[in-house]
Amino acid sequence: MAKYIQGATGDWEVVIGLEIHAQVSSEAKLFSGSSTKFGSEPNTQVSFVCSAMPGMLPVINEECIRQAVRTGLAMGCKINLRSVFDRKNYFYADLPQGYQISQFKDPIVGEGVITVELEDGSTKDIGVERLHLEQDAGKSMHDQHPSQTYVDLNRSGVALMEIVSMPDMRSAEEAGAYFRKIRTLVRYAGTCDGNMDQGSMRADVNVSVRRPGAELGIRSETKNVNSIRFMMQVIEFETRRQIDILEDGGEVDQETRQFDPATGTTSSLRSKEEAHDYRYFPDPDLLPLEFSQAFVDELAKGLPELPDAKKSRLINDLGVSEYNAGVLVAEKENADYFEDLLGELTQKTGKDKDKLATQAANWVIVDLFGALKKAGKSITESPVSIQHAAELLSLQVDGTISGRIAKDVFEIMLKTGSSPEQIVEEKGLKQVSDTGAIEAMIDEILDSNQGKVEQYRAGKDKLFGFFVGQVMKKTQGKANPQVVNQLLRPKLDG
Ligand code: ADP
Ligand code: MG
Repeated sequence: MAKYIQGATGDWEVVIGLEIHAQVSSEAKLFSGSSTKFGSEPNTQVSFVCSAMPGMLPVINEECIRQAVRTGLAMGCKINLRSVFDRKNYFYADLPQGYQISQFKDPIVGEGVITVELEDGSTKDIGVERLHLEQDAGKSMHDQHPSQTYVDLNRSGVALMEIVSMPDMRSAEEAGAYFRKIRTLVRYAGTCDGNMDQGSMRADVNVSVRRPGAELGIRSETKNVNSIRFMMQVIEFETRRQIDILEDGGEVDQETRQFDPATGTTSSLRSKEEAHDYRYFPDPDLLPLEFSQAFVDELAKGLPELPDAKKSRLINDLGVSEYNAGVLVAEKENADYFEDLLGELTQKTGKDKDKLATQAANWVIVDLFGALKKAGKSITESPVSIQHAAELLSLQVDGTISGRIAKDVFEIMLKTGSSPEQIVEEKGLKQVSDTGAIEAMIDEILDSNQGKVEQYRAGKDKLFGFFVGQVMKKTQGKANPQVVNQLLRPKLDG
């Protein structure tokens, strides 16, 4: 489905490419032993290497290499057994080396394809060009002193993975889906925490427009966009801005821009630099990085089941709906909670997983997620343990309580932290399935509602619900609805 944008002079197509910067999860920086801990006092995590003292030598942190390879594997990209670190030369106050160590011609990870799902249920393949490792720069602080800028070098030298896409995205929705998919993958792989509000993941957003099917247009690159919502705003704004320029007969400048969250607009930062401006050359302090296929295979073995594989297993082996499976696998912690719950529930009830999975998935997504959202908590802070959740569901599965009562019990669990079995016992919430007791109640209700019984028999079928309601009321919702239905129908019809 082509999604063209109608302009005054005809259709336009937007083209988007993303450069995602993902901070490597590691204790130490890329070329020094300094800590990467977030939120520390300025300049407390700075070695001689990070501050670029003359004569210091960078030493590769092997864990960062492993993390980059794991990420490449999780994305299904080609792993390059030989790669090269280059110097990218530029001057900036928070870059004391005067160059950034990066990878230019020979990155550690090569091409791949990421398949994303879109809202209309279709899928789209987006090419990945490469993933390379590089150092982060320090941070200039302009708001600490009226006339001076301070520099904090804590971030200087922290390992980043830059993941460069092909210009394959055609809408803000596709770009958002691609970014989310990459974030899900790095989180599964444990290679980046994906926290955008702490700057662990951010994107440079490249946007151009063209006539459908024409050659690529000139792009703008908006730097350091740190939320998915902002990214989508950048795309909408740039698309409009560029179409307006072109329709007025102008030309789009190839430039670097910045986003202002307060106005939702972008503005020019500088004209776009070209690769030759940086005078890249192999860093003479570092040998080319080489490792064996065995090293890669070993890392592949250590990866967890990845989201796509997990999703098809949930759908095909467990009968979870496509939608629910998508929701559950989007965050590894959610999928883990669901699977642990299902395992526990299987043990408690003795039933097969596929007989329980739909109910468990619905409960996690509707009841648990609803409660977590209200409390502003994540699943790892869930006030309901897997044990208690399994107990609650198994009380429903074995018919001890109805679905209606289960919701009440869950509310009490959230407030008190008590076990569901204890709550059901103490509050006397067990479902009444005793046919004798229910039958006696039905007789009583029919007796005292003769008028309604006659109306029902005269054809007013809808009154059936009224009688069910009366029985439920009398038992405070504890009558087994199936039993009520079975007993009520013949009595009313008879
Ligand atoms: P640089 O490193 O100078 O920014 P690259 O060629 O590596 O340049 O491209 C960076 C990103 O820009 C890639 O994600 C690529 O897909 C994207 N891109 C390249 N050309 C275009 C274009 N005409 N429109 C939109 N995105 C583009
Ligand atoms: Mg770029």
